[in-house]
Amino acid sequence: MPQRFALMIAPVDVADDRDDYTGTFTEIDVSAPALSVGEFSSHRGDGVFESIGVIDGHANEVEAHLQRLAHSARLCDLPVPNLEQWRQAVAAVSARVPRGEGVVKLILSRGVEHGPAPTAWATASPAPDFTAVRRDGVRVVTLDRGYDLGAGERAPWLLLGAKTLSYAVNMAALREARRRGADDAVFVTREGYVLEAPTASLILRRGDGFVTPAPSGGILHGTTQLSVYAHLEQRGFRTGYATLTASDLATADAAWLVSSIRLAVAITAVDGAPLPVDRELTDALNAFLRSPH
Ligand code: PLP
Repeated sequence: MPQRFALMIAPVDVADDRDDYTGTFTEIDVSAPALSVGEFSSHRGDGVFESIGVIDGHANEVEAHLQRLAHSARLCDLPVPNLEQWRQAVAAVSARVPRGEGVVKLILSRGVEHGPAPTAWATASPAPDFTAVRRDGVRVVTLDRGYDLGAGERAPWLLLGAKTLSYAVNMAALREARRRGADDAVFVTREGYVLEAPTASLILRRGDGFVTPAPSGGILHGTTQLSVYAHLEQRGFRTGYATLTASDLATADAAWLVSSIRLAVAITAVDGAPLPVDRELTDALNAFLRSPH
């Protein structure tokens, strides 16, 4: 079985209600050129995407990812995806992920300059091995995101709540974190409220309760955070959303970055100051997140 697999998707209207969309998918050679040089995704990052974790062929949290894809598309004025078509695309590519942990990516781009339609494709590939970071955790630094807590609502054209393809800022923040001797970053607003990491959501433990920054227009609502909350609530823990400061993070009883592919990693230090680590709970969260859900 090839290690990577990709399908081009010919997007259909939301009103299209056929039973079988496989005729709208075309398998492509992942080692050959596939996109036009006029693609807005490649020269403007103008499009939206999702990364879905796949474990032994089972794609997790598919509905939550599809809902967020549709939400991102709406925020970007892209044609609203036909979710049944995308659901079938996820099934088609997940079936081609080798056993173990993999990643399915869904991409919906503005399309080609002067072209008639958006461009869409889905890929499957093996995930990197995150065993060590799930065991050892990450040291984070807090980094200024450059806007205040109300920016998402006040300036929706900033697309802060959309998962757009423009991740250059997120990648630059990770490089800055490494330059400062850390492994990852937590973005903070101008007023010092914590938001999220460049590729993950933040969850804090305070006693028997868990809190995460409220998903206003300024951050992505993480599918993994939602799953972790459902799991914690089932175990009898209190969960909630709050406006949290950088000092709430520094004084938490424990904290994690959670995301679909890397899953839950404990934060071991914030800006150089150690944070308590709950190894047992981290392992339990990852056992849950690795099970089909
Ligand atoms: N926040 C940002 C900016 C992200 O890029 C991601 C994941 O890619 C997340 C949060 C976590 O989202 P999820 O749990 O759906 O992977």
